[in-house]
Amino acid sequence: MKQRKVPIRKCIACGNTQDKRELFRIVRSPEGEVSLDPTGKKNGRGAYLSKDKACIEKARKKNLLAKHLNVDVDERIFIEMLSLIGEETNGEQQ
Ligand SMILES: [Zn+2]
Repeated sequence: MKQRKVPIRKCIACGNTQDKRELFRIVRSPEGEVSLDPTGKKNGRGAYLSKDKACIEKARKKNLLAKHLNVDVDERIFIEMLSLIGEETNGEQQ
């Protein structure tokens, strides 16, 4: 039986290694801009997070993305990830 090789990456929140497709890639561009990278092809320093509410919330509360990417991470990134997995944020709506 042939096994397909899939890229495996590690979630910065739970530390589990997962199929890359099951993770969000968040990238810091050379200009210092942080964005989600749905294609996995953007240049820059990347961090991976499970497509899971618990991991996203953990990263948000503990500021893991900012630590990992060594740059301030806008709250919008987390809101965007939560909305992509179909979760509402607990944050106050403006
Ligand atoms: Zn995780």
